[in-house]
Amino acid sequence: MIRRMKRALKIAGLVVVVLVVAVVAVLAATFMGRQSIPDGAEVNGFRIVKDGVVSVAVIPVSENEVALVDAGNDKNATAILAELSRRHLGAGAVKAILITHGHPDHTGGAGVFPNAQVISLETEKPLVEGRVGAKGPLTRLMPVSPTGITVAKTVNDGDTLTLGTHQVRVFAVPGHTQGSAAYLVDDVLFMGDAADAKSDATVIGSPWIFSDSQSQDRQSLVALDARLARDSVPVKEMVFSHSGVLANGREPLDAFAASAR
Ligand SMILES: [Zn+2]
Repeated sequence: MIRRMKRALKIAGLVVVVLVVAVVAVLAATFMGRQSIPDGAEVNGFRIVKDGVVSVAVIPVSENEVALVDAGNDKNATAILAELSRRHLGAGAVKAILITHGHPDHTGGAGVFPNAQVISLETEKPLVEGRVGAKGPLTRLMPVSPTGITVAKTVNDGDTLTLGTHQVRVFAVPGHTQGSAAYLVDDVLFMGDAADAKSDATVIGSPWIFSDSQSQDRQSLVALDARLARDSVPVKEMVFSHSGVLANGREPLDAFAASAR
């Protein structure tokens, strides 16, 4: 009996070790080869602020007001507040937050900014507010609870917004999450987690382990590339939440689309 129990324990232990090694291997493959986040880089006058493994963009909209793309991972928004303070501004200066998607490393600091209108795709509102969970292999394991964030304005694919002197065009890129959005602000395309940039300046799709549907994400990127080409949308730079900036226009997305087709 004891011998049998010992054997069962040994097998269970082995299974756990194999699972842990598999998860570590998948995570290592996910993060390896990605570009790093250039903290403090200016892209078209928008500042990239690094918050741990994720980035936020600060977009000046008037002399004393800014908008953000995403709100970072840090619930205290320390890095964003430091950037505001560098501009002699406080938390009240943030007028709007364009949420690329509802994963907590993109919405974490949203509650710090009392005057910010939180904006997301209509389809992403329940995830941003914590009323539903994400559906990726790993993200589905995260507990579902209200985030305390209210999406005050929902947008849809094809919508345009004005932020101060900046024009924003909204693109739905479902796959990483169901309501993932890419935002073109002037001619800078914020991709959120729908894609990543590798250190060889190529584009890859969102990682399987964190994505609701990797194949849908691929299709969305191909469709986005085709739309940008069809409508002759000017794209100068692409910004990726976890992997920095590519400054050679739509070309890397075009190359990705060509290989994914
Ligand atoms: Zn994500």
